[in-house]
Amino acid sequence: TQTTQPASFDVASTAGVDLDHFWMPFTNNRYFKDNPRLLVAAEGMYYTSSDGRRLLDSTSGLWCVNAGHGRAAIGAAVAEAVGTLDFAPTFQLGHPLPFRLASELAKIMPAGLDRVFFTNSGSESADTALKMALAYHHARGDQTRFRLIGRQRGYHGTNFGGLSVGGLGGNRRRFVSQVWGVDHLSHTQGQAVRFQRGLQPGNGALADELEDLIALHGAETIAAVIVEPMAGSAGVLVPPQGYLQRLREITRKHGILLIFDEVITGFGRLGAATGAELFGVTPDIITLAKGLTNATVPMGAVVASREVHDAIVEGSPEGIEFYHGYTYSGHPVAAAAGLATLQIYREEGLFARAGAMAAKWEEAVHSLADCPHVVDIRNLGLVAGIELAPRDGTPGARATEVFQKAFDRGLLIRATGDIIALSPPLIISGDQIDEIVGTLRTLLKDLA
Ligand code: PLP
Repeated sequence: TQTTQPASFDVASTAGVDLDHFWMPFTNNRYFKDNPRLLVAAEGMYYTSSDGRRLLDSTSGLWCVNAGHGRAAIGAAVAEAVGTLDFAPTFQLGHPLPFRLASELAKIMPAGLDRVFFTNSGSESADTALKMALAYHHARGDQTRFRLIGRQRGYHGTNFGGLSVGGLGGNRRRFVSQVWGVDHLSHTQGQAVRFQRGLQPGNGALADELEDLIALHGAETIAAVIVEPMAGSAGVLVPPQGYLQRLREITRKHGILLIFDEVITGFGRLGAATGAELFGVTPDIITLAKGLTNATVPMGAVVASREVHDAIVEGSPEGIEFYHGYTYSGHPVAAAAGLATLQIYREEGLFARAGAMAAKWEEAVHSLADCPHVVDIRNLGLVAGIELAPRDGTPGARATEVFQKAFDRGLLIRATGDIIALSPPLIISGDQIDEIVGTLRTLLKDLA
């Protein structure tokens, strides 16, 4: 008789790993494959690399493991879901978990935003939100409202909608067939203000550019404006106080929907459940992903106001109201991970904890201001961007060098262009903050 052993995938073993076939995303594949850095295990604030190094994770993986690595309760919830209901469709059918997760999510969203559409990623959330905005106006008979407005240096993922409203040239240039009818507002990174600590008073003047676009095109052609409350991927660009309020006033006045892309700023990153809560500005739609499942299982969500939902669902003729969705929208395994994650956030008070650590974090990261090559530092909540002067001819070279040297010293950071981006798990201790900053200080002083 033969017994079937469960397959072992040797998660932590590099034996027999062939690097050729996996085409890595947003990666210099040729360089990486000559100098591979493989992570093989993770727990709490640390990764373990294939050469046995312990790495302090100052990036929450990729802005996503907000509750720290290897949370047993999430693993148990995932295992239970896989064993009980591995998959169930949510097209014209249902199962309890996404309904429960949607109810829990609604509790931590701004008042009035409580209708949840599930996706599998931040990119899908961005495109879903944009389509929702178009469907909203269509359902109300405003069929000339098709224009979508984003921002320079905005990042809304890599699908065509998000790419088109996004404002990172490198991501866009190669792909000519983008969504039509898109405009971009300026980003909020002022050249004059350097070493800004946290939120600083300002005015909404940059937001008034929206009035210029309205004057140009007519409000009756504009469907939505999408912004990250704090731009993350472009290098931590914190808007002046008043900016988002002003955007809200202008959009409301002209019947334009306001979408906050909170894929990074959601789930405690800024010391509140959402950037909307932190800034005291309620948009019509919020996009989420990353921290929703603590990154254990891919999942995103789009949370809409009841007004947006009802206009589409109540206002459409009989039949399917929103011709949109994914096979895996509300996947049981992801929903189970999401429920367990929200429970951890709630029970451990992690959003408030991030807010409480923010002052210590700000002091620590700004202590690097006098290090060589540092031209700017910005922070908010448990996020920081440390901008380095570009090395002649090779933008990004210095930050990449810091990334490599930090890795060798047991610190994982993220380098994006000339900016070192830090976004540690919300469970970080004061000593670990000092360790991150101490290592960076040493590296910056030694940098050529
Ligand atoms: N939107 C924002 C604001 C992001 O920061 C990201 C990813 O970093 C995305 C969307 C895309 O998310 P994903 O990579 O899950 O598609």
